[in-house]
Amino acid sequence: MRKPIIAGNWKMYKTASEAKQFVEEVNGLVPNTEKLDAVICAPALFLAQLVVSSKESALQIGAQTMSEQDEGAFTGEISPVQLADIGVKYVIIGHSERRQYFGETDKSVNQKVKAAFAHDLVPILCVGETLEHRENGETGSVVEAQVEKGISGLSEEQITQLVIAYEPIWAIGTGKTATAEDANEVCGIVRKKVASLYEDQTAEQLRIQYGGSVKPANVDELMGMEHIDGALVGGASLEVESFVKLLEAG
Ligand code: PGA
Repeated sequence: MRKPIIAGNWKMYKTASEAKQFVEEVNGLVPNTEKLDAVICAPALFLAQLVVSSKESALQIGAQTMSEQDEGAFTGEISPVQLADIGVKYVIIGHSERRQYFGETDKSVNQKVKAAFAHDLVPILCVGETLEHRENGETGSVVEAQVEKGISGLSEEQITQLVIAYEPIWAIGTGKTATAEDANEVCGIVRKKVASLYEDQTAEQLRIQYGGSVKPANVDELMGMEHIDGALVGGASLEVESFVKLLEAG
């Protein structure tokens, strides 16, 4: 019932020509959109070019972060108005690297999620625990709190359009993946938390991705789990061959 969504997060990799070449190669290889959303979240610098390059294909383009402000004196920032204007469809919000290195908090993350919806961008809201949280048995409570604060004030309708990415921080870029069972358990906790705040059928429609060292070798097992509706993928989204394999699994 929920449409799978595979999103690549390129982080601060690729030059403009490499990005363009990737998208041109992937364009013809993206499977039927009726069954899957395929997204590349690229550095802001290339977004306009990639929206044009992917126009004829099912590939959709997303940003990796944005300001919560529409406009103003915010040197270096990019606004949701600007992203929407050039045809960007998705935006990653509150990635753990943004929280860790750029001071994003649950409060600013919530403001950004609302700002994305205000401009018809689909937010991919990232949540996840540290290794310390996991070892202390705090995974569930940490993730529940991030979800509750991150989605505060959203309407039922917005929740059905939202994507939440559960990304355990210890699994990002480390080669360590949560087991499919562990990942599914936490994605289930996310859905249950949303169901406690919204209608059950709203929570049922929410799409939840797993992220953290997803690759062609483990994507099938992860995607086969009840509460996992897709993947947010860093390293394995940088090569055409592995990204296309991930799409085939979706
Ligand atoms: P990874 O990154 O797939 O390289 O672990 C995931 C992410 O940070 O979204």
